[in-house]
Amino acid sequence: MAEAGGQVVEIVGAGPAGLAAALAVRAAGREAVVHERRADVGLRFHGDFQGLENWTTPGDVLDELAAAGIVPEFGQVPFHEVTLFDPDGVPRLFRSEAPLFHLLRRGPGPGTLDAALKAQALAAGAELRFGDTVSRLPQGGIVTEGPHRADAIAAGWLFETDMADAAYAAISDRLAPKGYAYLLIQGGQGTLASCLFDDFHREREYVARVEAFFRARVGLVMRNPRRFGGSGNFFLPRTARKGNILYAGEAAGFQDPLFGFGLRSALLSGAAAGRALAAGRPADYETFWRERLRPRQETAATNRWLYERLGDRGYRAVIHRFPADGDPRDYLRRAYAPRLLKRLWYRAWVGRRQQPLLQPHPGCDCTWCRCRHLAEGRS
Ligand SMILES: Cc1cc2nc3c(=O)[nH]c(=O)nc-3n(C[C@H](O)[C@H](O)[C@H](O)COP(=O)(O)OP(=O)(O)OC[C@H]3O[C@@H](n4cnc5c(N)ncnc54)[C@H](O)[C@@H]3O)c2cc1C
Repeated sequence: MAEAGGQVVEIVGAGPAGLAAALAVRAAGREAVVHERRADVGLRFHGDFQGLENWTTPGDVLDELAAAGIVPEFGQVPFHEVTLFDPDGVPRLFRSEAPLFHLLRRGPGPGTLDAALKAQALAAGAELRFGDTVSRLPQGGIVTEGPHRADAIAAGWLFETDMADAAYAAISDRLAPKGYAYLLIQGGQGTLASCLFDDFHREREYVARVEAFFRARVGLVMRNPRRFGGSGNFFLPRTARKGNILYAGEAAGFQDPLFGFGLRSALLSGAAAGRALAAGRPADYETFWRERLRPRQETAATNRWLYERLGDRGYRAVIHRFPADGDPRDYLRRAYAPRLLKRLWYRAWVGRRQQPLLQPHPGCDCTWCRCRHLAEGRS
């Protein structure tokens, strides 16, 4: 492996975080090699729709990505409206002036975020090695291996339909315990899912209920349905650095603990890790995530803690507290904004009960630490 301080920066994982890292490394004039264990990018996904959230900052997320060196041309479609159903099935339409989120497709095929990032990385001169599993980085590098545990799962259907483009969500423990259900339609394609934060073993039952719910409420019609699913992992690391090895994206736990919108932090943390390592200043990355990601993630983790205690009665009250004429982006931004009380509660209670999965023992060069014995002085 080439040295992180030399010409080549090694990156493990060709997800959004790894490809964003490769773009940043190339922009800094260094060589980037991305090792991906699967045969192509996006194979963790199945052509499903995902939302790139646009509510945690006043500006547009696409501008933020452009500033980080990622050309925001992924075939995304701006969505300004969501119809949210309360636990009784009562709908509320939320509309925002600026896009609430940008709809993207995930997977290896054309028109996906993954294929667009791959094309950008290749055009920038990064080398992508597929079918290449890496477990050690003796000379340092960037680890963007994705999740290592399921804290939440999404399961559902991908299908074709004649329904009009729309985004629907429903909050009810009957449909998705401690999570939410969603139905996204765009250009004759649809994604329906139950996003569960509990009771994973009954996922099929929840998916069947979500399907029945949307059939009854919005006239869901699915042609050629295929099952899909996946999992997400979130925690806050104590450090995302082990010497010259930096961790980014979900491998570092950078995810939205409230609702699982991890794409934005994957892209931004990957780019920041790439910049820091390419510049030979890995410590800059610790500063980046502690300042830019940690405050919001601590707040979102406390929000999750509160959300899990609401139950259907609480969800109903929260949904109907939204002002009818307000902009949902403002409301969501306030909910995610770092707040002293929520951060203190995170540190005093919520965070103490979370076990950071990332255990970056100094002195070991595993991408995912399997050798605690080194840290404990045993060889
Ligand atoms: C069903 C589902 C729906 C989601 N919906 C949304 C959404 O609407 N909005 C949103 O913002 N987020 C969403 N997310 C989360 C989002 O997809 C992730 O946060 C994001 O993909 C994380 O990117 P990443 O680059 O960190 O990891 P990944 O995308 O997981 O990429 C990691 C890559 O590393 C590779 N790899 C792993 N180990 C090795 C190794 N040892 N050697 C080489 N390669 C390796 C993997 O094969 C993979 O390609 C969703 C997730 C799921 C599962």
